[in-house]
Amino acid sequence: MKILGDLSENELKELISETGEKPFRAGQILRGLRSGKRISEITELSVGLRKSLLEKFVDLPVEIIETRKSAIDGTEKFLFRLSDGNVIEGVLMKYKYGNTQCVSTQVGCRMGCAFCASGIGGLVRNLSAGEILGQIEQVNVYLGGTLTDRKVTNVVLMGSGEPLDNYENTVKFLKNVSDSSGLNISPRNISLSTCGLVPEIRKLAEENIDVNLTVSLHNPFDEQRKKLMPIAYKYKVKEILDACSYYFKKTGRRYIFEYSLVKGQNDTKECADELIRLLKGRHCHVNIIRLNEVKEKGLLPTSDKTAYSFAETLSKSGLSATVRRSMGADIEGACGQLRRKYLEKEGV
Ligand code: SAH
Repeated sequence: MKILGDLSENELKELISETGEKPFRAGQILRGLRSGKRISEITELSVGLRKSLLEKFVDLPVEIIETRKSAIDGTEKFLFRLSDGNVIEGVLMKYKYGNTQCVSTQVGCRMGCAFCASGIGGLVRNLSAGEILGQIEQVNVYLGGTLTDRKVTNVVLMGSGEPLDNYENTVKFLKNVSDSSGLNISPRNISLSTCGLVPEIRKLAEENIDVNLTVSLHNPFDEQRKKLMPIAYKYKVKEILDACSYYFKKTGRRYIFEYSLVKGQNDTKECADELIRLLKGRHCHVNIIRLNEVKEKGLLPTSDKTAYSFAETLSKSGLSATVRRSMGADIEGACGQLRRKYLEKEGV
């Protein structure tokens, strides 16, 4: 079965013209789907049209099956079930300026980073564009939002998966989510986080989509980075930095480095000095993250004191650097943790 929400408005128009229905039906379908409805609930369409769509397409591709709300900061965690029974997770963070939703791009992940829970079972499969979009559609409805009064204002592709390892679907998602007759979320309000797939960063720079680029650096030394991120065997830090410069040249958008501090591994003076040497003068910001401990991984977070002094060392040298506020600490906030709990409970 296919997913109707994968289609753009033009593709829907083509599909509709093949059935002999009037072209405006495409718009009705698009608005229905982007409002989080099942195909069977789009009552503007005739029973016959709904029935013929349901012969080819799944009724609802993404469904919320569990939610948890942090008592500390209101952060909400969601478990979603996909139409083939796979389970993914996402988070909604509430800020003064709006709500940011963190979405997954793959079921599992094959990047195998040492600290990350998403990669523990490897990659199961890519999400389609409509499944990435479906997470936002469902959370928007859950929060009482509509297309004209959207409750999800910002999106980060920082859930499970490596978005650039699922390049075509991610790009299609970025195009469909910014569709003015749909959810109308500008790519300027979306951050794409990658572990540093160099050719795909360069390709993305050519797409003419102004999405914010965020790169997980986590160590400025290639040899040390390999211990945390296997992708470092493939691409050197220097190649990543060159690709980021290219991204800036093409889009004019400042990029962000994520740096999750692991005790004794990347929180040293040597690392701070090398970051300064590499990043000074670049159009970038460094986001210092305190490691969310994942019990299977055995890595320890740096103390808050060291995290703040690490950030201060960077700022004093003129780099733009901040320590990211930890959110949802009481609800398995880090990538992949809630899904792992769910799979353990179900004995999967
Ligand atoms: N594949 C993408 C998106 C992954 S998750 C990427 O690698 O960027 C988003 C961020 O959370 C990444 O920077 C990732 O390295 C980081 N992250 C994953 N698990 C973490 C953990 N347990 N503690 C802190 N940061 C973590």
